[in-house]
Amino acid sequence: MYADIVIDISHESLDRPFQYRIPESLVGQVQPGMWVLVPFGRRNTQKKGFVLKLGTKANIDPDRIKELTEIISDDNSSDKIRIALAVWMYREYGGNLIQSLRVVMPARKNVRPKQVSFLVRTSDEKRFLDYLDIARKKNWKGRVRLMEALLCRDYISSAFARQQLKIASDAIKALEEEKLIQIETKRFYRSVLPKESANLEKKQLNEEQQAIVDKLISSYQAGVRTPALLYGITGSGKTEVYMHLIEWMIRQNKQVIVLIPEISLTYQVILNFYSRFGEQVSMINSRLSDGERSDQLERARNGEISIMVGPRSALFTPFSNLGLIIVDEEQEGAYNSEQIPRYHTRETADKLAQLTNSLLLLGSATPSIESFSKAESGEYRKFCLTKRAVLGSCLPNVQVVDMRKELASGNRSVFSRELREKMEECLAKKQQMMLFINRRGFSRVVSCRSCGKPIECPHCDVALTEHLGDKLVCHYCGYTKAMPRSCPLCGSPYLAGFGLGTQKAEMMIKAQFPSARVLRMDMDTTSKKDGHEQILDSFRRREADILVGTQMIVKGHDFPGVTLVGILAADMSLYNCDFRSSERTFQLLTQAAGRAGRGMEPGNVIIQTYDPENYSIQTAANQDYESFYHQEIRFRRRMQYPPIGWMCEVMAVSAEEKLANQWIWQVQLLINKRFCDIIKIIGPSDAPIARLKDMWRKHLYIRSSDHKAYLEAMELIQEITEQAAVQKVSIFVTVC
Ligand code: ADP
Ligand code: ZN
Ligand code: ZN
Repeated sequence: MYADIVIDISHESLDRPFQYRIPESLVGQVQPGMWVLVPFGRRNTQKKGFVLKLGTKANIDPDRIKELTEIISDDNSSDKIRIALAVWMYREYGGNLIQSLRVVMPARKNVRPKQVSFLVRTSDEKRFLDYLDIARKKNWKGRVRLMEALLCRDYISSAFARQQLKIASDAIKALEEEKLIQIETKRFYRSVLPKESANLEKKQLNEEQQAIVDKLISSYQAGVRTPALLYGITGSGKTEVYMHLIEWMIRQNKQVIVLIPEISLTYQVILNFYSRFGEQVSMINSRLSDGERSDQLERARNGEISIMVGPRSALFTPFSNLGLIIVDEEQEGAYNSEQIPRYHTRETADKLAQLTNSLLLLGSATPSIESFSKAESGEYRKFCLTKRAVLGSCLPNVQVVDMRKELASGNRSVFSRELREKMEECLAKKQQMMLFINRRGFSRVVSCRSCGKPIECPHCDVALTEHLGDKLVCHYCGYTKAMPRSCPLCGSPYLAGFGLGTQKAEMMIKAQFPSARVLRMDMDTTSKKDGHEQILDSFRRREADILVGTQMIVKGHDFPGVTLVGILAADMSLYNCDFRSSERTFQLLTQAAGRAGRGMEPGNVIIQTYDPENYSIQTAANQDYESFYHQEIRFRRRMQYPPIGWMCEVMAVSAEEKLANQWIWQVQLLINKRFCDIIKIIGPSDAPIARLKDMWRKHLYIRSSDHKAYLEAMELIQEITEQAAVQKVSIFVTVC
């Protein structure tokens, strides 16, 4: 048995593991994630090493491989917790330990720290003034200018002295020799915080908010660490609850991580934190340079800051005394990593909270089915905010419009008569509106324009998608059938894929309302750096009457001027080939509706749909999360979809279709053989994108209600992955 070991565990050295032999007596005991003592270098100095993985094959001549000495049991390294987290991640989400370590270890990229040098006054005032007198008499102009600048400050930067005061180095040297000043260089961290500060007043909590903060604090003091779900309707003031809790944590000398989905992490949000917590807070996002990013993590490690705000990667901030992890908009799919390991941020945060004995607080207006079911079962605590926080603001009035009737009465436009009327009213009153197109994914789902139903897979209860050659395919099980000529439910010949885009919608608005000022927000208009922020700012400054866009426009933004929200086609995400599509539809509709009427003016929401009876549309229109939840969890239970059991997708990718097929079947066979009844396999079949960049993609799903068996299957897949790699076939696991 051999072990791959890294000495000095850091992001970069993960690429340079050394192989050691495991002595007979330790075989079976040494495991990935352990610290061991190994002889290192020519002198065989004993060094601490970290076990990455085990193997039976020697990479070099076996005679030249050294033997590891012993296992180190008590390790006090500050990285211990994050390593434990990485070990957990690779077991839970697949991939290998190195990939997980890369995620949790902040990369110390080779960026030069910024150094700034200062001229600091060192002598007492009398001697300083005496010398200044002499300098004046002798007409040493440079020294005089420098000393005068230092009269009213303790230091100035060398750059300022040279460039602005035009002081030559002789003058500086002379004063230094006289021991009147001293040159000091300081490590200077790149600041990523706003230069301005908004003086946002702290709000008096309302009764509901106060009760929740009190309860969370008193239970924390009593040692309770059960994760808490803060379920509050849109506009109920969840942020204010977070802020008060953070303040309290800081007073206890605890540190706080606040996760916010990247798209909601706007300048406004950062400003809000900054004006509350000043220099104690820092943030990271994907727009920071490597240097800026590594500076912020370094400051956290040094204890200079206590609050880190950021998207999912902020979870791995190296704090040493973590007290609280907040995951805002916990239902957000963007929290799940697209890179291997494809970890779920919420679960990983839960694990980190356990490892650090800190509190996990999840917040949402539309909690994920996973979290809400945990809150129902008592695994999480549930706290509710039921009212809008701004006095006088209430939930909007929601109306569902049946687009089938519009079609029947001859209206073929994308705007129903009700919506057009409301838009005219809104424009006449000089108020703002948002028009939302519910569109995601690339697959085309075919549905009936007359009865509104999509064509579904008989085995999986998800919509079939249209493929070339007039075929309909299920992306879970591979079920295929020819495109029917008429709707199997009502016989109507009007079958079509949905395809309204934002650009087309913008054109139609302009045609119908030529004088309205329109802003469009989608992938195209936001691809530039800060593009999406600029559009939002401009809309906030009321430079446009209408903002039209995809789900991007509904995420947590607070526009008091918006009184009308129109959802042009609510169904588009509903008919997705995914078991979470109802959940997504409900979330998007609720959030979109929640944008209306956040100020004093009452809000109106119009939901246009071809399927008005659908429960996710009905419950969203009533803003009734719990009723949605109960219907949805029934469906998940019936089909054994998460959160009832564990489920993941396994994909084999290869340049040769035959190999991709061969290996996905290999996975199927081995899992079936080892776990026949405990683990259910759906597929294999072609992936939704069957071929991408000339690589063939075959996949299957595994599903089980037995977590232990499921983890064993993951381990087995990891073994297969390594064998497949030899034939240049990649196998990926994505937890559903
Ligand atoms: P949520 O995140 O729950 O949708 P926000 O945190 O954005 O809600 O709060 C909505 C609005 O209510 C914000 O403008 C916020 O400033 C305001 N607000 C929050 N708490 C209070 C309070 N206690 N009193 C008055 N206004 C409040
Ligand atoms: Zn039909
Ligand atoms: Zn199917």
